[in-house]
Amino acid sequence: MSTKKIIAIILGVVAVLGLIVALFVGAIFWFVFHTIGSSEAADTARTYLRSNEKLKKNASATATTQRGVDTIAAEQMRDYLTFIASDEMEGRDTPSRGLDTIAKFLAMNLTRWGFKPAGDNGTFLQRIDLRRDRIDATQTRVELNGRVLTAGRDYLPAGGAGEIKSGQLVFAGNGWYLKSKDIDAYRGIDPTGKIAVIFGTPNLSPRGISRADFGKQGDNYLNANDYARKRGVVGIIYVPDFQYLANWERNRQRIMERGSTVVAKFQTPNTAPLPGIVITPEIANALFTGESQSASGIFNASYGTEMPAPFLLRSAKSVSMNILSSYETVPTQNVVAVWEGGDPVLKNEYVALGAHYDHVGICAPGTDDPICNGADDDGSGTTALLSMAEALAKAPTRPKRSVLFVWHCGEEKGLWGSRYFTDYPTIPLDKIVTQLNIDMIGRSKKEGDTEPRNKDLSGPNEIYVIGSKMMSTELGDLSESVNKSFLNLSFNYRYDDPADPNRFFFRSDHYNYARKGIPIIFYFDGVHEDYHRPGDEPQKIDYVKMERVARTVYLTLWEVANLAARPKVDKQLPAQLNR
Ligand SMILES: [Zn+2]
Repeated sequence: MSTKKIIAIILGVVAVLGLIVALFVGAIFWFVFHTIGSSEAADTARTYLRSNEKLKKNASATATTQRGVDTIAAEQMRDYLTFIASDEMEGRDTPSRGLDTIAKFLAMNLTRWGFKPAGDNGTFLQRIDLRRDRIDATQTRVELNGRVLTAGRDYLPAGGAGEIKSGQLVFAGNGWYLKSKDIDAYRGIDPTGKIAVIFGTPNLSPRGISRADFGKQGDNYLNANDYARKRGVVGIIYVPDFQYLANWERNRQRIMERGSTVVAKFQTPNTAPLPGIVITPEIANALFTGESQSASGIFNASYGTEMPAPFLLRSAKSVSMNILSSYETVPTQNVVAVWEGGDPVLKNEYVALGAHYDHVGICAPGTDDPICNGADDDGSGTTALLSMAEALAKAPTRPKRSVLFVWHCGEEKGLWGSRYFTDYPTIPLDKIVTQLNIDMIGRSKKEGDTEPRNKDLSGPNEIYVIGSKMMSTELGDLSESVNKSFLNLSFNYRYDDPADPNRFFFRSDHYNYARKGIPIIFYFDGVHEDYHRPGDEPQKIDYVKMERVARTVYLTLWEVANLAARPKVDKQLPAQLNR
């Protein structure tokens, strides 16, 4: 064979073998693709979906990071609250130096973080003038049938200053007018120009009356002072209850040494207190000597169901009062700041955040632990707002609407700061689309806690949410969905009922915003063993819970701030809440 032929044969064999191999490999490929190909595709799909989910998660994580939520952290809150609720602040009474110090501490941080001052005259402080009246014991004179009574021992001044030369006395039950219970302290009697003798104490409502019985002030009820004034009574003598008598010494100190403090702008001629005194049982006995009913008889009856009918005391009895007092003006303040929104139009609207930075002061004088630190109430809200302010300042993006921060004073005195802010707002109230109020979010009920006073305290992953659905369905839904898609705390709506006997809806600052038609949400952890006691201290706070609640409120704030249209108010505030 020639070399050429041999090469041709070899090439032919290789070609045939190549064809066989090619067919074989092809068959294998065909087999592989048609049997396991489908599961491989599924795997690929799953991998794709996983990475997509990751992307989505990353996207929402990025969104919350963009909003600065991670800045709000347990350790940071511990730092702030340890200072805010320290003994040095002496319980942040309104007014007090401790309260003023915290106001400056808040303002200092807000300045550093670039907030816009929204108090008075380009500052973070909205000044509130208080009027402090103090009885002048050396000049005050009260006489009963010619006997000069001693202030502090026989009586305590209990009203405004003024002179009553002499007036006939009229017994007027508890002094109230209350339509729903058919109470009229002066039924069948003309008390004009007379001094009323009332069994009860100033500012105390009649026994056995719940908030639901009140209705609208003026039309449906008047307290003892206001009703007496309306009926032309010139002065009031109060015969106090057991509780007042038991605390006589404390009341004496409060009235005669510290004086009473009110917000000057809230006073009106119709509600100014009439001159009055609170007397001891001994003086009460002397007052009712020779009358158809004895003082002790009426006193006992006042604890029963039926108060005796009003009657005139014998005209021979005479009481004269000349109560002198001096007053001074004492300033206090709300702290008000704005974080401007990023949308050129929507930034003219505000989502408001509120907490009260005051507490009840030195509440147990003379004991080892005299200071009510108010770590939970409402150091926790004060701190949460500060953390949220820091988070906004450090976030890479701005919410569309502006955020209004108001740290209220005087909440513990009767919602002074929020009433003042909503009566004398520093920004237009109609531009506030929602108010989120935080009052106590720092305590949690631990497993196995059997202390009865903690029975209504919320758990570590739980918070009471009040009012979110009362005025705006949309706001209620938004609040729910933010929580569900984020930390999924357990929102407890137990107190979200206008008929709730605890009346929490009236008991914090959001009430004054709701009163002005602004939809609100109130976050609250529930009362506990240290509520309004010296034991409400920073080391007892559950900072992890605080972080989780504050982050949830913060993201709720962002969602409201970025809504295309403000939350629609589609419901009237329930009648019981509208007084
Ligand atoms: Zn509070």
